[in-house]
Amino acid sequence: MAKSINVNGLEIRYETVRRNIRYPRLEYKTGSLVLVLPKDAGEEEVLERYRDWIFKRELEIREALRSSASKRLELEKGFREFKDFVDGFAKKISAECGFRFEKITYRKMRTKWASFSQKRTLTVNPLLRHLPQRYVEYVIFHELVHSVEKRHNEKFWRLIKERFNDYQEIENDLFSYWFAIQRKEGGDDKW
Ligand SMILES: [Zn+2]
Repeated sequence: MAKSINVNGLEIRYETVRRNIRYPRLEYKTGSLVLVLPKDAGEEEVLERYRDWIFKRELEIREALRSSASKRLELEKGFREFKDFVDGFAKKISAECGFRFEKITYRKMRTKWASFSQKRTLTVNPLLRHLPQRYVEYVIFHELVHSVEKRHNEKFWRLIKERFNDYQEIENDLFSYWFAIQRKEGGDDKW
């Protein structure tokens, strides 16, 4: 059930899920807040503790939503063409930078553009095909950097910077594109 709280004047809707876990967790799923709580945790207490984080995140989301209106999607781009490009680009990067991967799979994901697994599988969200090529390249490069550094630490961003100096801007744009895609897909339910 959706509830809402007021944080510094922002009305924020959220949902609560109870699980058999030890520590509370806050997640954003395509722009809406989900509180994942241990069975006995107090909801208000958790909300109070994460107030600043929620506020900051909420402002980022609202900004991304606002700017998503101006993001143009390449809706005619076919999957075949996209797949050929990604396969080729990943091979090229792997050869140039030594980032090794085992295989590439394509699967619609609810929360991300792509991922890189322990088994060195690069999984790509086919919806990424609607983004301009530079963003596709960035997402693939980002995941392949995870083949040498799992975490988003200093080393990771240094490697990213070697090819994408403006990565922060790209990351922000990707967040906006996510909302643009959601609108095109008609919301979360269809996923
Ligand atoms: Zn990453």
